[in-house]
Amino acid sequence: MRVYDLILKKKRGEALSDNEIREFIAEYLSGNIPDYQVSALLMAICFRGMNSRETHTLTDSIAKSGDTVNLSEFGTLSADKHSTGGVGDKTTLIVAPIAAALGCKVAKMSGRGLGHTGGTIDKLESIPGYRTALSSEEFFATVRNCGIAVVGQTGNLAPADKKLYALRDVTATVDCVPLIASSVMGKKFAAGAASIVLDVKYGSGSFMKTPDDAEALAKTMVEIGRMAGKRTSAFITDMNVPLGFSVGNNLEVIEVINTLKGNGPRDLTELCISLAAEMASLSLEIEFDEAKCRAENALESGMAFNKFKEWIAAQGGDTSYADDTSKFPKAAFVYEVKSENAAYITAMNSEKIGLSAMELGAGRKTKDDTIDFSAGIILHKKTGDKVMPGDVLATLYTNSEESLAEAERLIKEAAVFGEGAPTKEKLIYKTIRE
Ligand code: URA
Repeated sequence: MRVYDLILKKKRGEALSDNEIREFIAEYLSGNIPDYQVSALLMAICFRGMNSRETHTLTDSIAKSGDTVNLSEFGTLSADKHSTGGVGDKTTLIVAPIAAALGCKVAKMSGRGLGHTGGTIDKLESIPGYRTALSSEEFFATVRNCGIAVVGQTGNLAPADKKLYALRDVTATVDCVPLIASSVMGKKFAAGAASIVLDVKYGSGSFMKTPDDAEALAKTMVEIGRMAGKRTSAFITDMNVPLGFSVGNNLEVIEVINTLKGNGPRDLTELCISLAAEMASLSLEIEFDEAKCRAENALESGMAFNKFKEWIAAQGGDTSYADDTSKFPKAAFVYEVKSENAAYITAMNSEKIGLSAMELGAGRKTKDDTIDFSAGIILHKKTGDKVMPGDVLATLYTNSEESLAEAERLIKEAAVFGEGAPTKEKLIYKTIRE
């Protein structure tokens, strides 16, 4: 294989063969192809695309480039979910216990946040004692006994994706459907679940800016899931406004606990019930509506909250924080951002809200930054709300007083004001099933 020929072929819009794709991934991982040639090929893929056979082969090669998790002992019950990343997206922490309460086995590897999007692992680490690294024996025993284990991604899961993603990040080749689809699904295949439910976001806080772009990505991922024999569904959801009211690690965990106790924000509760129901519908082979009734019941009866505590305890976390959320540490500086307008909020830029939270210390600017678990934002007003001058738009929490001015500026920039009430976007725009 000459990489030059692959670049030329793709530049002309021709399809690469399965052997060419597999060899390319193996040789790149072995260090035998220079980054400049890989960059040229990635850019050609961005312009010319890949057909579903090529995308499936690329995904499979990425999945098999390192360790894979064998969940076959759980049969069809193993179920995973993935969100393409958002602001205030704490759904895994709510969805996993609901799905496990219904009988799914949620054996999950999650990532840390970088930039304006938060990571599930960082949120879990804000619960004192929670261990995000388990031995393989502990991981499987936790899934067997409790139905859930959520750990950090091991170093050797889909290493080809790690190398490709780092290069895509600096060559403007991230926002490309076959490359995102193979990156996300490559990691999901390696993580081994029989069913996969995807939450594909569109809007200002996400990779896909429009519902149509998100739908194209969702359809590609569902198709390659089907080709690999996985039961796969995708929801296309609105990220033009953050999910729930809290952004930042322990603030989000508190919102998770309130939601599991039945006192959560409507949008967050609705999305989590639907995601968990879809997982149960695929795993247990029941109708979605039936799964949704069971999911609502698991939440209302307290079963899901009890499952959450069982899971957190199984991974070493202190569950007294779930019983009494006032125990979570609070930031030293609390500041209210007030409205100067009498108007409706007609839109919100989630990305700017994420950046504001990062400024306060809730996220990382570089991957070696440490996180302040108590830093973040509670929104009091969201898209569709009417505000008057002096109304509190958001409360900022930080231990770094000097970050407040920039964080406030970003919040004020994030809110777009207008005279009339905006039409309400549906949170779940569409569901894509096999
Ligand atoms: N998330 C991923 O894991 N990969 C991408 O390419 C984009 C988002």
